[in-house]
Amino acid sequence: MRKSFGDHQVLRGIDLDAAPGDVVCVIGPSGSGKSTLLRCVNLLEVPSAGRITVGGTEITDPDTDIDAARRRIGMVFQQFHLFPHLDVLGNLTLPQRRVLGRDTEHAVAVARENLARVGLADRAAAYPSQLSGGQQQRVAIARALSMGPEVMLFDEPTSALDPELVGDVLAVLRELAGDGMTMMVVTHEMAFAREVADRVVFLDGGVVVEEGPAARVVGDPVHERTRDFLRRVL
Ligand code: ADP
Ligand code: MG
Repeated sequence: MRKSFGDHQVLRGIDLDAAPGDVVCVIGPSGSGKSTLLRCVNLLEVPSAGRITVGGTEITDPDTDIDAARRRIGMVFQQFHLFPHLDVLGNLTLPQRRVLGRDTEHAVAVARENLARVGLADRAAAYPSQLSGGQQQRVAIARALSMGPEVMLFDEPTSALDPELVGDVLAVLRELAGDGMTMMVVTHEMAFAREVADRVVFLDGGVVVEEGPAARVVGDPVHERTRDFLRRVL
């Protein structure tokens, strides 16, 4: 798969796959194309060449219903993007009602279940501004989960958080992974990648320089560029 912006080729031939239940962590320096890769998987960006298949559906096929395909993929960003004028429950129920056409009762039940899953069952009536960054990110995760995705994409979900709040969010990701969710996680948290990822992909300059089992890529990288990068982040 390739992606260019004008004549700037940002992703220069990426070939990746994840089996159901896999956790793939994507690491690499700033500007290497990590966000663009995730955005292509969700069709927030349209690849310039190549194909992307999710659960047997080729989402890059012009005949595919993009909205339906996108509903199967949840995405969580570095910035939480919550609706500031809605309380937590409203944040979780609005997209379910608007996009999935669920009635309020159904949407509320799903929302409460997912709030419990991220440890925020007691904050349903709070507004985003009343929550810590870590809590806001957990609400964003619960909101994505409430849509019933088959795959979850996380783009540096803890990078905007104060250090003491990172652990709670990573704990939620760890639990999701344990529940068998298929996940792609862009992260600089190497200890997390090593512990939770089935595979780590090191991206640099728009190509996959190295990929493999987490313990191998993070613990014993083969390529000089990977070693250089890890020396700087570890
Ligand atoms: P990373 O997430 O690894 O930091 P990005 O995927 O955000 O990298 O960006 C990779 C490269 O693509 C950068 O050089 C960036 O400037 C460029 N880029 C990303 N999005 C766009 C866009 N919408 N238009 C033009 N260039 C972009
Ligand atoms: Mg990025």
